[in-house]
Order: sequence, then C-alpha cells, then structure tokens
Amino acid sequence: MGYIVFARKWRPRGFDDVVGQEHIVGTLRRAIEKDRVAHAYIFTGTRGVGKTTTARILARALNCEKGPTVSPCGECTACKEILSGSSLDVMEIDGASNNSVDDVRELRDNIGYSSMAGRYRVVVIDEVHMLSKSAFNALLKTLEEPPQNVIFILATTEPLKIPATIHSRCQRYDFRRVSAERIAAHLSKICEAEGVKFDKSALALIANKAEGSVRDSLSLLDQACSFCGDSLSEKEVRSVLGLVGTDVYRELMKNIGEKNQAAALESIQKTLFDGFDLHEYVTGLQEHLRNLLFAKIPGALQARGIDIEAGEAKVYAQESAAFAEADLLRMAEIIRRAEQELRWSAYPQFLVEVTVLKLIYLDSSASIEELIKLAAEGGGGGSSVLIVDDVKKKVN
Ligand SMILES: [Zn+2]
Repeated sequence: MGYIVFARKWRPRGFDDVVGQEHIVGTLRRAIEKDRVAHAYIFTGTRGVGKTTTARILARALNCEKGPTVSPCGECTACKEILSGSSLDVMEIDGASNNSVDDVRELRDNIGYSSMAGRYRVVVIDEVHMLSKSAFNALLKTLEEPPQNVIFILATTEPLKIPATIHSRCQRYDFRRVSAERIAAHLSKICEAEGVKFDKSALALIANKAEGSVRDSLSLLDQACSFCGDSLSEKEVRSVLGLVGTDVYRELMKNIGEKNQAAALESIQKTLFDGFDLHEYVTGLQEHLRNLLFAKIPGALQARGIDIEAGEAKVYAQESAAFAEADLLRMAEIIRRAEQELRWSAYPQFLVEVTVLKLIYLDSSASIEELIKLAAEGGGGGSSVLIVDDVKKKVN
C-alpha cells in the first residue's frame, strides 16, 4: 500500500472526528435525527477548519444505505463513493472559477436531472463569495424553489460578501479556528496511532504554526515526519518549520539583560546568515517573551497545558528572573509594534536591529521603582540631595 498523507488518511469520517466544531456537528446530528435537515446552509470559517469535510459527512449521513443516520457506516457503496470523491450525489464546485451566471444556470440544469442513485444530492459551493452578482441572483432563484432532496452548502471565508437575500434563505454555521491546544492534542493522538514518538513541545510548535487550521497542522506534521522519521524532537521540528531555535532567543535575552549591544546585534546577523526569515524571527521572539512573561505569573505557564513541560517552565522562570514584569511588558509592546511595521519596512534588518537596541536601552523600570521607594524613604529628612545623586546613578 502506498503512503497516504496524514491530511487525507486522518480526514474525519464521522461527526465525532471533526475537531473543535462541536457546536456545529451537534446541531447537524439533531437535524438528521429529527429529519429536519435544511435545504441550504452557509458554512463560514477560515480555511482548513472542516467546512467541506463536514459537508461530506452530512452527505454520507443522509445517503448511507443504512441511513439517514448520524453515524454513516462507511462500508456501503454510497459511503465509499462519497469518501473517495466519486459519488454523483455530492457535487463540489469552486465558486472562484465557476462564478458566472452561466455556471450557476448549468448547475441548476444539472441538479434538475438529479436524485439518481442517492436519496439526497449535496451541492457544495466553495468560496461562494466569489460568485458574480448575476450568479448570486440565479442561485437565489434556485434557493427560493429548492429542488426535492437537494441540499446546498455554501462555504466561504468571507460571509459578509454574501448578499442578504441569500443569507436569509440559509442556516448559517460559523466554524471556529481550532485552539492550538486542541490541535496539539489531536496531533498527539495521531502520532500515537502511527507509532511516531514526539516531544510535546514539538507538537505545540506545529499546532501554533497551523494558526487554527487542522488541515494545515496535518500537512505540517507530514512534513515534519518525512524529515525526522518516526521521532519528532523540538529542535528538528523547529528547523523543519523554519523557526528560530529557543537557544538563540535565550542568548539574545541574556545579551539584552547584560546590555551587550554588540553581541545582540551579532545574533541577528547570524540568524539572517543561517537563512531564517526576519518575520519568523520576530514572531518567535514574541512567543519567547510571552513565555517569559507568563513564567512571572504563578501557574500561568502550566495553565497553557500541553506545550510547556515542567523542566522547561523552570528554565523560563530562571531566565525571566533577570527582568521586571513591567519591563517584559514594555518589551512585548516594542516587539509587537516592530512585528507590524516589518511588513511595510523597506529595510527590515535595520528595523529589527533598532528594535533590539530599544530593548537594550529600555530604562529598567525596576530601578525606577527603587528610586520611588528611595524618595519615599528619604522624604522626611534632609537627604534630598543624596536622592538626586542616586537618581543620576540609577538612570546612567
Ligand atoms: Zn453507509
């Protein structure tokens, strides 16, 4: 048997397998059980969160020879054909490339001859917001008088671009971005089933990089496995994903703490020389700072659950001890701004260098706090001159 990529092999087969969209599959299940499936749905949500997958599961649930059922068998001809994508009962149309009124008319004619083998015909129009105005009008006509046993699923990443007239004839389901924790848990289940060993932090990196898309996370997992084999270490996964190593950020923060400008600038040079992307570098620095900040708050790192292990949390705690919480906050703000400006910068390397220098020259708010304390203590006596001297010393 040939190698099947994870994204296909682990594509959800039943409602239970859809990750992180319980609010939607729950409603759909009840609709099937009560025989109240609507004629038209709008599935919204970012890419790779399960819109078309859910549409296909719905098609199988309705057309399974043992159905309609909330748990399609996966064995019968209808189930198998829909799974393999060869069923005539499921039509998937790309709205971006079939966006004209003629395309929609053709679709309507096709549906006219429908209801062949299966009891239901499910028409999925992907990226439906790309349809032209006249195509939407033609679609509206169809939705106004829906053919028997045809179910429309309009999938889109941009629901606001769908006319209100269409909206009002559909049930709308909003697919959520899946949290990194949920994705990491899903990946660990897959790794266990596939006999792949892994560092939790390696899976957390993949989950973060996928930005809420389960499909993306599976492609990244594939990529990582083809590079690392059947054991995923954090270090290797970092390099597969093009992420800068934690050790680089540890070194940078150490240099910032010690106000060692030359060494800090050199680290940027080296990172560029190693072929890393500057945007990736800054994003990683942001994540690192977030961990440092959370390490200051008792229990906050642990609450993030799966992605930080106890040993590592301790290292972050030690590292963050060198900085005041308020300083870390200000640093986070400086880096956040840099990350935004980076997109428009004509000279990104300089922007990053300036950012790192800003972090170094950041006046320690800890010493300012000390100054205030000093001033308060000396407030009653005649030692104000001494305090000013202290201020100078601290600021310089
Ligand atoms: Zn079946």
